[in-house]
Amino acid sequence: MPQVLKKKKAREDIFEKAQSLIPGGVNSPVRAFCAVGTDPVWIRKGKGPFLWDESGKKYLDFCGSWGPLLFGHAPQGLIDTLQEKLKEGTSFGAATRQEVELAQKIRNFFPSIEKVRMVSSGTEAVMSAVRLARGFTGREKIIKIEGGYHGHADSLLVKAGSGALTYGVPGSAGVPKDLAKLTLTLPFNDRKALEAVFKKEKGKIAALILEPVPANMGVVLPEEGYLYHAREWTRKDGALLILDEVITGFRVMPGGAQEYYGIKPDLTCLGKILGGGLPIAAFGGRAEIMDCLAPLGPVYQAGTLSGNPVAVASALWMLDRINAKRILLLNQRSRRFFDGIREILVRFRRPWQLNTSASMFTLFFTSEPVRDDRSARQSDTKKYARFFRKCLKEGLYLAPSQFEANFISTAHEDVHLEQALSAFRKVLKQF
Ligand SMILES: *Cc1c(COP(=O)(O)O)cnc(C)c1O
Repeated sequence: MPQVLKKKKAREDIFEKAQSLIPGGVNSPVRAFCAVGTDPVWIRKGKGPFLWDESGKKYLDFCGSWGPLLFGHAPQGLIDTLQEKLKEGTSFGAATRQEVELAQKIRNFFPSIEKVRMVSSGTEAVMSAVRLARGFTGREKIIKIEGGYHGHADSLLVKAGSGALTYGVPGSAGVPKDLAKLTLTLPFNDRKALEAVFKKEKGKIAALILEPVPANMGVVLPEEGYLYHAREWTRKDGALLILDEVITGFRVMPGGAQEYYGIKPDLTCLGKILGGGLPIAAFGGRAEIMDCLAPLGPVYQAGTLSGNPVAVASALWMLDRINAKRILLLNQRSRRFFDGIREILVRFRRPWQLNTSASMFTLFFTSEPVRDDRSARQSDTKKYARFFRKCLKEGLYLAPSQFEANFISTAHEDVHLEQALSAFRKVLKQF
């Protein structure tokens, strides 16, 4: 058999075997690539801005594990740090000094976080923050944004984005109706709708949770004054404002989107970049609220692997390297790259929307501006799927869905971004 065919056969064999053992063959639905009409890519390794699949094909990676890899794959310093750390044990289920150090560092980045608790995933951070908000306010309803994704906790799988949006499932089977009823949803950037719900539900809302820059319906920017409006209405009503900065934290600015937009939330959720690829996340905010958590208060929250020493070591390494200068340089380089993409769109007269924030971008296949979930859904997802597959062939690994962000890391140098522009030029010319 020719080498190429043999490799293709091997790949199909893995997928077949995977499907017989794991539902859909994957451990998280978006990895199945259903939204882009192709089989999953089986990753063997990553280094810097690159990924290699099981057949040895190399890709320039713009998915970055969905956001955590601010410094690219396997930065040498991190690998060395983790190797040393592993020798001291992988879990104690007991307090360590490094957790305190990490809490202090997080607080230095996010002045709104007076106290913080570590968990193992973004889902857990958000789920805990919502429970805490309910416990603190003694209210039960929460508000989320249509197309906003906050992990897969029951209360938040209502009009969720990301994988849930891709698959067109409004919520999920298995979420009790009585619980979902407590989750109200609003279109993003709609001040009137926000105002209306706070008037109607006066005194009943525990929290409004939102991604300050939504990235799970594709990247969407908050319009002038919108976040401020959200802050004002929650404050007036005594509801908490929870900013889900699992994606935007440490990326938009070192202190997240709240630093960039000057918004002070009551609670913040962090994840992804915090662990740099290891499973750690956190939620924190005003001390008065955080002190409602057990063992001080009545809101229960716990975790066997919370504050895991290896994950904490990774987080410390990440936060030691994140600073304004690095982020601004990355954002500048990203902006040049985005200008390059816009130039190509203009040159070939493609009316598509490139939404960008800091080092994140989404190319929406629609000619109308994308400012919320409804306008994002105007995109031609079949066209996106074709674009994705052509890019993959050219060695670009983009987010495998129209409704996701692409990420640029500090390991993406100008030469890599030039390479990506050449590939885009080639692919878009044929469209
Ligand atoms: C990824 C994500 C989550 C969930 O984090 P997991 O670690 O996947 O559980 C929550 N909120 C936002 C904004 C995210 O992008």
